[in-house]
Amino acid sequence: MLGDLKGLFSNDIGIDLGTANSLVYVRDRGIVLREPSVVAIEAGMTTVLAVGDEAKRMLGRTPGNIVAIRPMKDGVIADFEITEAMLRNFIQKVHNRKLIAPRVVVAVPSGITEVEKRAVKDSATHAGAREVYLIEQPMASAIGVGLPVHEPTGNMIVDIGGGTCEIAIISLAGIVFSRSLRVGGDEFDDTIVAYMKRAYNLMIGERTAEEIKMTIGSAYPLEEELSMDVKGRDLSAGLPRIMTVRSEEIREALKEPLNNILESIRLTLERCPPELSADLVDRGIVVAGGGALVRGIDRLIAEETGLPVHIADSPLTAVAEGTGRVLQELQFLRRVASSSGE
Ligand code: ADP
Ligand code: MG
Repeated sequence: MLGDLKGLFSNDIGIDLGTANSLVYVRDRGIVLREPSVVAIEAGMTTVLAVGDEAKRMLGRTPGNIVAIRPMKDGVIADFEITEAMLRNFIQKVHNRKLIAPRVVVAVPSGITEVEKRAVKDSATHAGAREVYLIEQPMASAIGVGLPVHEPTGNMIVDIGGGTCEIAIISLAGIVFSRSLRVGGDEFDDTIVAYMKRAYNLMIGERTAEEIKMTIGSAYPLEEELSMDVKGRDLSAGLPRIMTVRSEEIREALKEPLNNILESIRLTLERCPPELSADLVDRGIVVAGGGALVRGIDRLIAEETGLPVHIADSPLTAVAEGTGRVLQELQFLRRVASSSGE
């Protein structure tokens, strides 16, 4: 009975602690928060000034003494205190204090250490969680896109985020093999910045590079190639200049980071136990994360591996949706436990 009441009056929370974006899922409500994983602090200090959207907004507007930190940027926890501040902020934003302390499921990068996992758990507890469960992001991602992870069949997920790409083969609710590489959307942006400098002597910012990637970026030849005007600073004249860039050029620039991802996919497939390999021939690979939105990435991976490749319906929310499903399952597990006389 008490278990039921708790279910009624608490708003259990699922969190995708991404390298670029964090999402929060509240049970029965869905995704209620989606903010950049950014914390603003005063230079040289540890006092947190703002978190998420607010931190990102402050950046452009405030003189140099405020620095933005992306504590999860490399798929590891660079700074425990800052990560804790971020997690606490997100939980507090969605948790109604009148309710019973929530149970929290946090999806963490698969590369983090036991010490880092402990730190995430402690942070969530400090932020008011009643119980904390961790799940690895590729597992959450696979659950979120609806793969039958509990079945004795091989499932493969490639989640291309901002700072990392996580590749995993999952069967019987466990990760059979996974690998995390520090290549993702950020790296795509960096190579575009480098390309514009090399090819046109044009200096562009990371934001502009990201815009180019989203507007005309591709991994495979397009039926209709695209182009766009790009503004930057001419490095020789030192003056603002506008250039037209074609999708073919950007694709060429993205080749190197994309090749790194392809190579990791290949290595993962090589390590895959034969029975599961056989499953993948039919089931193929699911691609999620913001990087899945690069045009033609499915065709590139399919051509490289000879396997069917599917892009998740909602690549940016897959992990958060997965934590949401896990919350439902916790509830289910609890109900089963209480009906058997807990
Ligand atoms: P993380 O889980 O690591 O926080 P996300 O899955 O949120 O990362 O993906 C963020 C990355 O996806 C960023 O590098 C962003 O530029 C990229 N991204 C988002 N939308 C698109 C798009 N339409 N085309 C290409 N890249 C995109
Ligand atoms: Mg992610």
